[in-house]
Amino acid sequence: LRMVSATAINDEPISDEELRPHALDGFVGQPRLKAQLQLFLDAARKRDTAPDHILLAGPPGLGKTTLAMIVANELEVPIRITSGPAIQHAGDLASILSSLDAGEVLFIDEIHRLPRAAEELLYIAMEDFRVDVMVGKGPGASSIPLTLPRFTVVGATTREGMLPSPLRARFGFTAHLDFYPHDELEKLIERSSGVLGVSLGEGAAAELALRSRGTPRIANRLLRRVRDWAIVHDLQVVDVDDVRAALALYQIDSEGLDRLDIAVLNAIVRNFNGGPVGLNNLAAMVGEESETVETVCEPYLVREGFLIRTPKGRVATAKAWSHLGLEPQGETNG
Ligand code: ADP
Repeated sequence: LRMVSATAINDEPISDEELRPHALDGFVGQPRLKAQLQLFLDAARKRDTAPDHILLAGPPGLGKTTLAMIVANELEVPIRITSGPAIQHAGDLASILSSLDAGEVLFIDEIHRLPRAAEELLYIAMEDFRVDVMVGKGPGASSIPLTLPRFTVVGATTREGMLPSPLRARFGFTAHLDFYPHDELEKLIERSSGVLGVSLGEGAAAELALRSRGTPRIANRLLRRVRDWAIVHDLQVVDVDDVRAALALYQIDSEGLDRLDIAVLNAIVRNFNGGPVGLNNLAAMVGEESETVETVCEPYLVREGFLIRTPKGRVATAKAWSHLGLEPQGETNG
């Protein structure tokens, strides 16, 4: 009997790898960020030393993990991957740090979620390349300072503001990733369609880009659903109407808004008459953590003009009301 786990059936993580560019050249869009990073890496290579630590900030799915892997590839060094929540005790981090090779990249995803004690250990390690290892237990325990080889931390966070300033100050380079404009997403979709072997007709990539919520991960996911459609319907070329039909089947919003985005807008409009409503009330109403609403949902809704943040709380704009098929009422702005 062969056991197949649910994660093996879900193709997303595996396909994420297949679509990940390995060099900075293959990383689509974000031209300024790429130029900065290129200079930064070239300088490190010329000096023949591990570069300063790098912080990547921005919403999920915009390429932080991809960039961390590209940094390691470009420097031709190994990469170790962990995350804030995976490190429960400072000791977990100490053992990772003490096993790093010279020049290695240590990628820490969701670095704002490291436990406090691990955070303190990390910034000493980042600054002085030293870690204090505890030996023994109880009253006889002592700590021995261990010198580390030079390495590079690449930290990723969706909440830069939650990083304590001593930790933030240890990064020599901070990049802010923002949602991708449609033309960049279109390029990304064209690149991915080449990898996946989907042939897109005139305007099909643009139609997908419009609905990808400014996010490469979503663009790639929608493209895979369109590929399924093409396979089942024996299409050689996918045109705009095929894209629309496939996405309609999956209830992808015409503006790219997802289930949570719509739930948030609905809550503000229907439960709070358009707002203003505080973040915590709003999160409770949609059954999500405040952090998720604030870092995943709101940045896109604000950027696209569906929601505004006021000192009294979140307010739905006229665009939000009409997107939900309603007449704007109450204190609506926009
Ligand atoms: P994050 O770590 O920010 O959540 P990832 O780096 O995991 O995001 O990116 C999600 C997916 O989108 C990956 O499959 C990655 O290959 C793809 N991707 C993200 N940004 C880009 C980009 N600029 N060019 C090409 N592919 C990208």
